[in-house]
Amino acid sequence: MNDKTDPGNPSLDSSCRFIFNGADVRGNLVRLGDSYHNMTRLHDYDPVARKLLGEFLVAALLLSDTIKFSGRLVLQATSQGPVRLVMAEATHDGKTRGIVRMEDDESPLAADASIDQLLADGVIAVTVEPDQGQRYQSIVPLSGHNLAACLENYFRQSEQLSTYVHLAVARDQAAGILVQQLPIQVQLDQQVRDDQWQTVRTLATTVTDTELLEDSNEVIVRHLFAEADVRILGENPVAFACSCSEERMAEALVSLGGAQLDELFSETEELELTCEYCAMRYLFSPDHLTRWVTGDAPKH
Ligand SMILES: [Zn+2]
Repeated sequence: MNDKTDPGNPSLDSSCRFIFNGADVRGNLVRLGDSYHNMTRLHDYDPVARKLLGEFLVAALLLSDTIKFSGRLVLQATSQGPVRLVMAEATHDGKTRGIVRMEDDESPLAADASIDQLLADGVIAVTVEPDQGQRYQSIVPLSGHNLAACLENYFRQSEQLSTYVHLAVARDQAAGILVQQLPIQVQLDQQVRDDQWQTVRTLATTVTDTELLEDSNEVIVRHLFAEADVRILGENPVAFACSCSEERMAEALVSLGGAQLDELFSETEELELTCEYCAMRYLFSPDHLTRWVTGDAPKH
């Protein structure tokens, strides 16, 4: 375990789950360094929008770690406010990508703007897309001054789960912690349950942004919960990875329909599509696209 702080070390991009022995309480931590940097350096984001994206990325990974699934979780907000769209994806195996879009006039965002100002009249949705089975979506109410507070309210109202969330973003790093009281399973005594939860919650609230951003997951858990019987369930790497492909881009073009494609190709010999997430460029000539439609193109 590396407990030295080295912002350039890709191994720092990781998630970690922990539980408390004899208690129905769990927690997880996420920290991003290179993945956040590599994803955002492709764009000229407003610093406040970039910070909001960092919070969404960490939150998507924290949420995906609270459910057992194989697939993709998307945390997305759309709004009429200065930030029009934030989208963060996390897969069960630690792949993440995300984007943020602002309204056209692009005046700088206020550093102290609350989430309901940035995402005015907005909707935050969590969509889980399992590899097998039905996708499902829940709405996270914009009911708090930041994303962490919105998520706490969401867990309390929708899932009846008491939860504490803290998200921290600074420069090229983003990190977060989530602790949550689970339904009765191990500890049947209500008073003991309440005491155990209050203890964990109180300890978790002492975490600082600096600790979250600079200490390793194991150091944070050991330090925060030194007085509790905590067990770390292992650490998983997280990385920026994009799921775009030539096939998907071709499908997107074909879905425009023949008339629109004819019009586009009347102006150029090759259409260039750039992936918004990873900036990968794809070129399609009419012949090339036809091969995709007829199934003659090689599948990747
Ligand atoms: Zn891509």
